[in-house]
Amino acid sequence: MKNHYDVIIVGAGAAGLFCALNVAIRDKRVLVLDHANKVGKKILMSGGGRCNFTNLNTTYDDFLSKNPHFVKSALNQYTAYDFLALIEKHNIKYVEKGPGQLFCENSSKDVLKMLLDECAKYKIKIFKKCSIKKITKNKHFILETNLENYTSDSLVIATGGLSIPTLGATGFGYEVAQQFGHNIVKTSPSLVPFTLSNKTLIKLKELAGVSQHISVSNNTHTIEDDLLFTHRGLSGPAILKLSAYWCYGEEIKINLLPAKNITEYLREERLKHPDKLVVNSLSYIMPKRLVSYVCNENIKKLKLKQLDKPLIDLLNKSIHSWVLTPSGTEGYKTAEVTSGGVSTENISSKTLESKLVEKLYFIGEVLDVTGQLGGYNFQWAWSSAWCAAQAIK
Ligand SMILES: Cc1cc2nc3c(=O)[nH]c(=O)nc-3n(C[C@H](O)[C@H](O)[C@H](O)COP(=O)(O)OP(=O)(O)OC[C@H]3O[C@@H](n4cnc5c(N)ncnc54)[C@H](O)[C@@H]3O)c2cc1C
Repeated sequence: MKNHYDVIIVGAGAAGLFCALNVAIRDKRVLVLDHANKVGKKILMSGGGRCNFTNLNTTYDDFLSKNPHFVKSALNQYTAYDFLALIEKHNIKYVEKGPGQLFCENSSKDVLKMLLDECAKYKIKIFKKCSIKKITKNKHFILETNLENYTSDSLVIATGGLSIPTLGATGFGYEVAQQFGHNIVKTSPSLVPFTLSNKTLIKLKELAGVSQHISVSNNTHTIEDDLLFTHRGLSGPAILKLSAYWCYGEEIKINLLPAKNITEYLREERLKHPDKLVVNSLSYIMPKRLVSYVCNENIKKLKLKQLDKPLIDLLNKSIHSWVLTPSGTEGYKTAEVTSGGVSTENISSKTLESKLVEKLYFIGEVLDVTGQLGGYNFQWAWSSAWCAAQAIK
């Protein structure tokens, strides 16, 4: 039958392409369908154009899901080192930016090219601009599309989450899951900058563009990393990481100098340089614009010898315990990933096959699995795709 395939994969992103080539290696006829005009758009955008394709220190704790155990089997079956071996086989140059955090040295294009070259090697058909109108199942899966109708023995849903609709994101995977009886865990934008009220933004106006190594906490988690003040609010890795745990309306506490005790620092400075201005002393350890923000007009005029305990306490509070409440997040428009998704309760953690519908698989970000910032989301895409590919009969 011309339009019949062993496997149809919906979604030509990281998970879909990787699954396709790993099934095709086993002599299966594979068709990949994507509604976008280009495949792998998120791979190209990722890691600031350098794709943070994995993290060698991946642990189960780097993932959020209603069932925290769900990721274990797939991550054990296909590890970060397995993917790195593929990268090395294709002579892709990479760099380690943070501990274990691997990026392309040249461009994200290298990773996409590797996937597409492998797909071409196994003659995998990839149809772009394909809108799927209806999916039904009798003996086979039947996909009615704007191009033609296709049938397959197995169906893999790899349509990702809701983040960045301009890159092709849709809730299609959730609709298919629900159609076949699966539940959806409430979704929300994650790894996303915080927005601030207009009133706060006006106060912080001068700080836009300032970056600082900080620690930031909500009620449940503390993250130490870099913060970036923007014209819309707060961004940078520390904020993106905390956003995965933040609940709407919750206060956050920022320590602008987590490695210093400002009280001790100022006391020592006062002994050494009593006539130095407080702001000059603080400018050694913080960006000038941040110093100007944390010091009130009175402190700005003072020398170190004029600092009394109440003033030191005031500085201590504004530097080590700055409390503010984000007005929200920038939402799916800029979020790197989507928290929540297809519930894992009726998905096999070993094969990624639905427990409700035989030969139906869900892989990658469409599932209720969210990796932290640092290459974990791609590793989940590779690991889950690889497991499904091995299981497809
Ligand atoms: C700006 C940005 C930077 C990122 N950087 C990193 C990083 O450096 N490291 C990291 O680990 N993670 C990063 N991520 C997250 C990572 O890109 C995703 O977790 C990963 O791409 C998910 O892979 P996926 O294949 O499941 O989904 P996707 O890559 O989103 O692919 C889904 C595919 O399905 C297609 N699709 C959607 N709806 C339909 C439909 N109705 N019909 C047909 N096709 C459809 C889409 O067009 C897309 O091609 C980043 C994300 C963003 C947005």
